[in-house]
This record gives sequence, C-alpha cells and structure tokens, in this order.
Amino acid sequence: MRIFEKIADLRAWLAQQREAGHSIGFAPTMGALHEGHLSLVRTAEAAGDVPVVSIFVNPTQFNDPEDLRRYPRMPEHDIALLQTAGCQALFMPDVEEIYPPGQDLTVRLDFGRLTEVMEGQFRPGHFQGMATVVKRLLDIVEPQRLYMGQKDFQQLTIVREMLRRLGMSIELVMCPTVREPDGLAMSSRNLRLTPEMRAAAPALFRALTAAREAFLAGIPTADIQQTALQTLHNAGLRPEYFEIVDGYTLLPVAHSEASPFVVACVAAWAGDVRLIDNLVLKEERQQQQ
Ligand code: AMP
Repeated sequence: MRIFEKIADLRAWLAQQREAGHSIGFAPTMGALHEGHLSLVRTAEAAGDVPVVSIFVNPTQFNDPEDLRRYPRMPEHDIALLQTAGCQALFMPDVEEIYPPGQDLTVRLDFGRLTEVMEGQFRPGHFQGMATVVKRLLDIVEPQRLYMGQKDFQQLTIVREMLRRLGMSIELVMCPTVREPDGLAMSSRNLRLTPEMRAAAPALFRALTAAREAFLAGIPTADIQQTALQTLHNAGLRPEYFEIVDGYTLLPVAHSEASPFVVACVAAWAGDVRLIDNLVLKEERQQQQ
C-alpha cells in the first residue's frame, strides 16, 4: 500500500493507475479504523476498483471543539488494518494541504430540510463542513465510485444530493452497517465508551429492531417513537432523537403505507459519547444512487 501526504504525489500515482486502465474506488474516513471502514475497502475491491482511502479528521465538521480534540487518532493501527484489507493507497494529508490558507473552499449549497433535521438540528454547521471536505477530497481523487456507510445515513443522503446538484458523475455506493455481535454499530467513538456505557449502548439497535417489528405490524409511528425513546432512557442512555422518516426526503412518516422507503434514525448520548444508528424499516424499490 502506498501512503501519500501531498496532493501532487497522490494525483501522480492516480494518473498512473488510470493510464493502466484501472478505475478508482474511494472511501473517505476520519481514521481509528474498524471492520465497518474495511468493509468499504473490500466492497471497492470486489467491484474491481483500486481502493483508495483517506484519513483526515476534518476540523470543519466538528461543531464541538472538545469532540474534535478527543477524536481517536491511531495512524499505525490504521495503516496495519488497511494493508490487510487490500487498500492500495492511503491519503493522510494535514489540515493545510486540504484547506490552504487564504482559499475559501466552503461548499455553500442549500440542502434545505436534509441538513436541518436530526443531526442538523443537534450539530449546527456539521453538514456544511462534511460536504466541503467530501467535495474537496473528490476533486483531488476523482474516483469512479464513492463508497460510504449506511451507518451515517443522513450524511449519505446529503452527499447523494450534492453529487446530483453539482452534476458530478461519481457513483455513490451505500455499504451496509457493520455491527458488533450484540448489535452495536461499529464506530470509532465506541473506543471512548466506559464499560458501563458499552454495556448500555446495544439499546440503540434493540430500539431500532423493535421499531421495525412494530412498524411492520402497522403501529402508528408516534407510538413507536415514544416506546423507542423509553427503551433508550431505561437503558441509561440520553436520546436526542428517534425519527421515522422517508429515506429520500427525510420527512417524517406517519404510518407504514405513507412511503415505500422508510428509515428509523436515532442519536443518543452514552455518558459523554454521542452515538448514532439507523435501520431500514421498509424498502419497496431499488434505491436511487
Ligand atoms: P468515519 O471515519 O466515521 O467518518 O466514517 C467513514 C466512512 O465509514 C463513512 O462512510 C461511514 O458511514 C463508514 N462507516 C463508519 N462506521 C461504519 C459501520 N459500522 N459500518 C459501515 N460503514 C461504516
């Protein structure tokens, strides 16, 4: 695996790959890698792409400076994992390489409701920072396919909208959420859970799976939401939201016949660690890319 810190070096290598007829599959990450990240690399490889990963803890998407400071950083561990997963190039730029002083690269698209609900409500500015870094990285890497996890469902929905609005012909591939055996979605933030909170955290997945059963049984979503919030409280977590939404518009869905593609999304604090998760409750048509 090649490791690049400079854009020019990465781009020279990417040009060679293209000249040799290879397609590029790109997975942007913030490091502290786990099996969820590696699944993106493996999916890219299986699709015949040359897998390229970036590790960049993007300061502009952290609304909380303390969260940024405490975000886990473990480059040696990450490099070793990527080697085993078949990653061919790792891009690890510093902040000045991505945001050269004096240049304003901010993406200022108005995503309307997509950035206002759920995560947008609790993390002001987060999605503008995320869209900015994803656009910047895509302009650098110019991949054929972009691999992202369903784990961050709202993020993926916004990136899909950004690609469409900017007319970028990059295929977005949504990869399923990889979970621990007890259902907890893998996340770099899980490393910061206390043993007590690690034991409580699977309540997110429990609440989501119970919500799916209730939804398919025709129970109104307002009731399902109340039950889910109670499940999270009872487990010792502090939920911020539990929403049942249309998977494209992120508008609330009132009952099971109201939309063909329905997703339940949750965010909750486990001690001082904020966790998110989601589950598709119903999907009756092929997802748009
Ligand atoms: P992050 O490093 O948390 O910014 O995540 C980088 C990419 O990995 C994003 O596309 C995430 O959605 C994806 N990802 C993170 N956790 C998981 C997981 N448990 N399963 C699948 N994909 C994941």
